[in-house]
Amino acid sequence: MVYNVKIFGIVQGVGFRPFIDRLAKRFKLNGSVANRGSYVEIFVEGSSAIVEDFCSAIKNEAPPRAIIIDIVKNIFTAFDKNFVDFKIIESEHESGDIFVSPDIAICDKCQTELFDINNRRYLHPFINCTDCGPRLTIMKKMPYDRERTSMKNFPMCDKCHEEYHDLKSRRYDAQPVCCNDCGPEVFILDGKEKGADSIKKARRIIKNGGIIAIKGIGGFHLACDAANFETVENLRKLKHRPSKPFAIMLRKNFTTNEIFNKFETQKPIILIPKSDLNIEIAENVAPNNNKLGVMLPYTPLYLLIFDYPDDISDFPNALIMTSGNISGAPLATTDDEARNDLSKICDAILTHNRDILIRADDSVMDTFENEPYMIRRSRGFAPLPIHVNYSKNISVLAIGGELKNTFCLSKNNLFYLSPYIGDLTNLQTVEALKNSVKRLMELLEINPKVIACDLHPVYHSTQIAEELAREFNTKIIKVQHHYAHILSCMAENNFNDKVIGVAFDGTGYGIDETIWGGEFIIADTNGFERIDFITPFTQAGGDKSSIEGWRNAISIIFDIIGNVNETKKIAATLNLADESKINGQLFLLQNNINCVKSTSAGRLFDAVSAILGLCNVSTFEGEAAMKLQYNAEHVEQNSLLIDTSSTLKIFKNILQRRLNGENVQQLAFDFHLALANYIVETCKKIHDEHKILTVALSGGVFQNTLLLKLTIDKLQSHGFNVLRHKLVPPNDGGICLGQALAASKIESTLL
Ligand code: ZN
Ligand code: ZN
Ligand code: FE
Repeated sequence: MVYNVKIFGIVQGVGFRPFIDRLAKRFKLNGSVANRGSYVEIFVEGSSAIVEDFCSAIKNEAPPRAIIIDIVKNIFTAFDKNFVDFKIIESEHESGDIFVSPDIAICDKCQTELFDINNRRYLHPFINCTDCGPRLTIMKKMPYDRERTSMKNFPMCDKCHEEYHDLKSRRYDAQPVCCNDCGPEVFILDGKEKGADSIKKARRIIKNGGIIAIKGIGGFHLACDAANFETVENLRKLKHRPSKPFAIMLRKNFTTNEIFNKFETQKPIILIPKSDLNIEIAENVAPNNNKLGVMLPYTPLYLLIFDYPDDISDFPNALIMTSGNISGAPLATTDDEARNDLSKICDAILTHNRDILIRADDSVMDTFENEPYMIRRSRGFAPLPIHVNYSKNISVLAIGGELKNTFCLSKNNLFYLSPYIGDLTNLQTVEALKNSVKRLMELLEINPKVIACDLHPVYHSTQIAEELAREFNTKIIKVQHHYAHILSCMAENNFNDKVIGVAFDGTGYGIDETIWGGEFIIADTNGFERIDFITPFTQAGGDKSSIEGWRNAISIIFDIIGNVNETKKIAATLNLADESKINGQLFLLQNNINCVKSTSAGRLFDAVSAILGLCNVSTFEGEAAMKLQYNAEHVEQNSLLIDTSSTLKIFKNILQRRLNGENVQQLAFDFHLALANYIVETCKKIHDEHKILTVALSGGVFQNTLLLKLTIDKLQSHGFNVLRHKLVPPNDGGICLGQALAASKIESTLL
């Protein structure tokens, strides 16, 4: 009997076909295996019992990087197949659900070979195998074959060719396989050093306190010694990044934190407590933060940077490894971009001639109760789809948010989230978004029927959606920002019932044309209703009010007191700004110039951070809130009972006690606790009326894990079922998923 077996999932570029080949030979089955682009198709000839065992073995023994979603087995009767052996058939193409593998960090075996002087890939910066290496970032088209990747420019040498075709080799059928003789080459851009010399030069620069740009998997990094205070300070100046924490790359696992083992194939930046680190780094790497972003080397080149056998001794154990871009612009991926954007920031550029076809920033992950809590989902995770079992079969492109943009393509029940794109206030990023949309559409073979975007009338994301809708001749569905946040949280948890959605966020355009951001909504995929929100305050000063927390502090104080001179006095006492600025802000407020009503929880955090003297002006998004959390984490967690019936009352209490000279750290903690209590009390009120017992927490404010913990603990103690994010970010990097889900639902009901 001939059986046809189809295997769906991540089965491409992970050594799946050779695995099947070995398995078939073990079971003495004749037949064939082929890559169909969207699945792997097997024909085998044998008894039902043996084929059954064969299928179980596929499931149980699959290669480490494979993710099997489904195995479909049928008796094949279409025509007689007379197999004389088992064969791997070259890739053919069929459409269907396409699973593109994310890039995979270097595996242990390749790592060993890299430093084995007797191995022919000794010190080869591009060593890889079927278990590891670049995938998404070098792919042009599916199916995944060398000719459709940026490795097509590097024909295999005889030895590599042999391994590629040798069933017993762990490089059998590995598309990017190469060696010192046939692989790409590293070199110093616009310099004379090549190969080993270029790596040695990079090491020397780092060792001597310089800054080097290095081409990684998904783009360039800027690297320097993380223990050298002056160098870090210099990088901050050159990158115009006065205080935002930098991530570091560790030479070895100098931490006691075990989370790194869980993510060894992705190797994201993981935020771990500084106390978990066993080596010294400069204090200006991540100021005002209890945690530090740490990643481990994930390409052979990074391993060589740390451990190249040359005459440099005492090479640093920790390097700053930060995105190679100018503030706000996309990560540089080509030599031209590196030359234009980075040459003034660094002492040299270490590049190579394997093209990056799709940009992928490092993923950034926090942890919450020993589970991942994603901040930026990109390299190593994108474009793995999120499976939403209740969604509709509509192809959607969701453009995502204006800041921290990612987009989403969906088909069937699968939602493919793009790598991180960035802030669309930058024109280069806008271009990058459009390019990436088209590349992923091609790679995943999705032609959207609908384009979803934010409700905001003048966002770049909205304009891009309109432009693409004209180009693809599709309609647009606009989805309210906080509704999208809550849906993304529901989708990630595969929850399809009504929830109380708590969206605490920076800024989102409300359906009443005011600024929302502290919302309590009742939501499901059919729609949402805004039930409650934090006390509205006046947000004056336009765009400046979202980075200058002192402005919101004065606005709220004026809202409370209603008296110009009193407000002035308090503002001066608290050093919120100099006199002329205070007067200017009060002038706006008194005359209702450039004023909007706001329920932004993010701006409330900024205001509290300002009155506590922690941050008047943010140099990066979230700085004020980060400092508030940092201070709150330094106190005993017991506090006075305060009136939490509204956020205005909480603010007033904190303000009065600050003016009385109480301890700032205690006040920072009390604010967190009061806000958590306020959230829970509001949820209880909503539950009493609407009988909904599930609460979904989303929005950028919930990146604050202290607020998250206090809120979840209290909600659970009151019997609520709590949904929170894990692998989809709570910030705007996650809203494309919610937008896509809303649009597919709306479109399907219209059909
Ligand atoms: Zn490997
Ligand atoms: Zn070779
Ligand atoms: Fe948001």
